Amino acid sequence: MLVDRINALLPQTQCTKCGYAGCKPYAQALADKQADINRCPPGGDAGIAALARLLELPVIALDESCGRHIPLQVAVIDEQHCIGCTLCIQACPVDAILGANKFMHTVLQSDCTGCDLCVAPCPVDCITMVAVEPARQWTTDDAMLARERYEKRQRRLSAPEKEEEPQPVALVDKQAAIAQALLRARARRQQ
Ligand code: SF4
Ligand code: SF4
Ligand code: SF4
Repeated sequence: MLVDRINALLPQTQCTKCGYAGCKPYAQALADKQADINRCPPGGDAGIAALARLLELPVIALDESCGRHIPLQVAVIDEQHCIGCTLCIQACPVDAILGANKFMHTVLQSDCTGCDLCVAPCPVDCITMVAVEPARQWTTDDAMLARERYEKRQRRLSAPEKEEEPQPVALVDKQAAIAQALLRARARRQQ
């Protein structure tokens, strides 16, 4: 289907900067001729050129009212100030944040797409976006991995039996419980 071929050209950060709820909705709008091809800042000029080829449209400049095309950034959490509210986990479309309620949170930088959707919900402003070192652009391989992670999250959220507890939270809960058990065991040994 045309929408799938368009979606395959999009960066899959799900950042919503195009004004749509994610890459697939933007792809649908393009397939329906309801949107211009220049609304995706992460895709930049290369993305516009690819869309222009597929849709047989002229190449146009990025619409910078959607955002600028910049080298890849990732989110970094100031763990000293994190209050463990989990709002960033709920905002992250690719489950790149680990943490549990009332525990500090951290970003798995290898999984972060730089979408910056976690920044605004943080009530204590302890998330910043930083450029990756060395500087690099988002690649097609990055997009494939991000799409897999996004679709996995969507499946998890739509599965009723798994709705209550996101996997990363469960994982860190377990790790925290193990760490606390180890601390208790050490304290007992020292008595
Ligand atoms: S990566 Fe591009 S197409 Fe996907 S949500 Fe962001 S702006 Fe929209
Ligand atoms: S950690 Fe933040 S910037 Fe990175 S993918 Fe998740 S929401 Fe986007
Ligand atoms: S939104 Fe901010 S304070 Fe809340 S868990 Fe995430 S980083 Fe910590």
